[in-house]
Amino acid sequence: MTPLYTDPCPACGESVAHPFFDGGAAPLVILGWPRTEEEARAMPPYRLDFVQCLACGHVWNRAFRYEDVPYGSQPNLMFNAGVLWNRHLAQLVDEVLTRLPENPTVVEIGCGCGHFLRSLAARRQGRYIGFDPHQPDDFPSEFQFEARLFDPVEDLLHLQPDLVVMRHVLEHFSQPAAFLQQLAWAAGCCKKTVRLLVEVPCIDRVFATGRLVDFYYEHPQQFSTESLRALLQRVGAIVSLWHAYDGEVVLAIVELQLPLAWRLRAEAAAKFEQGSQEARRKIAAQLQELANSGLRVALWGGTGKGAAFMHHFGVKTNWLTWVVDSDPNKVGTYVAGVGQQIVSPEELKTQTPDVVIIPTQWRAADIVAEMARLGIEPKQVLIEHQGQLVDYWHSAHPYALPKLEGR
Ligand SMILES: [Zn+2]
Repeated sequence: MTPLYTDPCPACGESVAHPFFDGGAAPLVILGWPRTEEEARAMPPYRLDFVQCLACGHVWNRAFRYEDVPYGSQPNLMFNAGVLWNRHLAQLVDEVLTRLPENPTVVEIGCGCGHFLRSLAARRQGRYIGFDPHQPDDFPSEFQFEARLFDPVEDLLHLQPDLVVMRHVLEHFSQPAAFLQQLAWAAGCCKKTVRLLVEVPCIDRVFATGRLVDFYYEHPQQFSTESLRALLQRVGAIVSLWHAYDGEVVLAIVELQLPLAWRLRAEAAAKFEQGSQEARRKIAAQLQELANSGLRVALWGGTGKGAAFMHHFGVKTNWLTWVVDSDPNKVGTYVAGVGQQIVSPEELKTQTPDVVIIPTQWRAADIVAEMARLGIEPKQVLIEHQGQLVDYWHSAHPYALPKLEGR
């Protein structure tokens, strides 16, 4: 047994993987297109370092970099004119049509020359849009063609499709989950159910036969049935998952949807984010008022949260009368980004401050007790709470210890 790797699995996200196939280094085999013998021999090699996730069985090339592959300038042509393959395509068109509403909107990501969209459009009237970074020689007339990468959020929200098709596309991605989760997020914002049709090569048979030709640079993701299921379960409800072409491809239809709890958390995060900016403005204004007041103001804590407080709320100059710290190791050093020298609490014994600000609310009770021991009696102690500076002794907040109440 060789060591386990800790890269998160692109399909299921777990972090336990084992070396699976070291293919050395080889040139691109789909998107290289050498035109001369010399060009072919001079093609740069890329590392093939496939590992397997122990949780879901997914195999991926952990040395892959998407930018190595010239998707925009070279066509990614898939040649298979076989009778059985064409039967598979015809069956797939039939299957998809049973799940499409009247007059559907269908988007295909990585549509190539648009064979599949054409087949659908010929059978049902609707809106069909194909995306592919490589522009074909002839613009298709049966559907709208976009010669660019599909944006999983903006394009989905704009087009509001009934179905998104990704046939033989996901195996080219470096981060398939990231793409699909953005797609699912956007689908959750649409007013209709958005379904996703995925088709990828299936490596179930690779495990039994030991064959190696499946592994090349342009296919960094190698899906088994189990790993495709693991990936798709993260982005919605799998309506159907099946195999075709003698088990060599695996397909699935998914109703894109992220968990409700994620949406609720997003709402809470948006609220926090908005509140945080309001808090920065409000507390910065409160501090400015203190700076203008002529009162002697001490801030307790010159590093960590104390320095973060000064950064967040715009303390950029040495206007504070003192920055003190209970930790003797910090005394004599300077506040990062501000430059004010940190002094010992002893300094406040002779000249009591009017106001003490305690950035570390959770330590406020201890600091107030420390001040009492040293005979430091400020008129007011302020802490940050719910977007503003509040009075430690007289305002409602969760940081008072019972023994200190009633002062
Ligand atoms: Zn996995």
